[in-house]
Amino acid sequence: MQATRDGIDDMEHALREPEAEYDVIVIGVGPAGLTAAIYTSSLKLRTLVFEGSNPSRLKWAHAVNNYPGFPEGIQGAELLRRLREQALKFGTEIRKGDVLAADLIGDIKTVTTHDASVTARTAIIATGIQQKRTEITGEDRFLGAGVSYCVICDGPLFRSRTAAVVGEGPEAVDDAKTESHRLQNLPGITDWRLSGK
Ligand SMILES: Cc1cc2nc3c(=O)[nH]c(=O)nc-3n(C[C@H](O)[C@H](O)[C@H](O)COP(=O)(O)OP(=O)(O)OC[C@H]3O[C@@H](n4cnc5c(N)ncnc54)[C@H](O)[C@@H]3O)c2cc1C
Repeated sequence: MQATRDGIDDMEHALREPEAEYDVIVIGVGPAGLTAAIYTSSLKLRTLVFEGSNPSRLKWAHAVNNYPGFPEGIQGAELLRRLREQALKFGTEIRKGDVLAADLIGDIKTVTTHDASVTARTAIIATGIQQKRTEITGEDRFLGAGVSYCVICDGPLFRSRTAAVVGEGPEAVDDAKTESHRLQNLPGITDWRLSGK
C-alpha cells in the first residue's frame, strides 16, 4: 500500500502537534468566565468551563443596577442564570469540579480536578478574588442586605442612609470620598486591621 503525500503530511502534523481535547478551558463560572465562554463558543471554539464548588460572588447581589441592558436592574443570580444559558446555547460544556492544578507551559495546557485531567490549547483563569473579612458580627448574614464590598456597585443603594467604609489604605480613602457625595452621614474610615481570614 502506497502512502499519499497528504497522508504523510497529516501523520507528521499529528506527531508534531498533539491534539488537545478542547480549544478553550475556562476555570470559573462567574460573569467573567461565562462571558469568555460565550465569546469563544460563539466563535465555534470547543469550550469547557469548570464550575468550582464556591458560587460566583454575583449570586449574592440582590440588585445589579450597573449592567448594560437592564435599566430596571437584575438580581445577580438571575443574571448568572442568563449568562449560563447563553453560553450553553452556543455549545459551551460546563463541568462541575474544583481545579486543583494546571500545567500552562507549552502549546497544550492541562487542567486537573480531583477525578480528571483535561487538555486544551488555551486556558482562561476566571476564578475571581477572595475578599478579606473583618470578623464584624453579622457580616455574613447581612451580605447583600446592607453589607457590600463594592462602593461603585452598591453605593447608590445606600443613598441618604448612614454608612461606614471599613478598610485601610488608599482604596478605602477613595471609597470613602466616593460615598461621601451620596450619603447623608458617613462616620469616616474605621482603621480596621483586616485580619485576612
Ligand atoms: C453582595 C454583592 C453585590 C454585588 N453587586 C454588584 C453590582 O451591583 N454590580 C457589579 O458590577 N458587581 C457587583 N458585585 C461584584 C461582582 O459580584 C463581582 O465583581 C463579580 O462576581 C466578579 O466576577 P468574576 O467572574 O471575576 O468572579 P466570581 O463571580 O467570584 O466567580 C469566580 C468563579 O470561579 C470559581 N472558582 C474559583 N476557584 C476555582 C477553582 N479552583 N476551580 C474551579 N472554579 C473555581 C468560583 O466557583 C466562581 O464560580 C457584587 C458582589 C457582592 C458580593
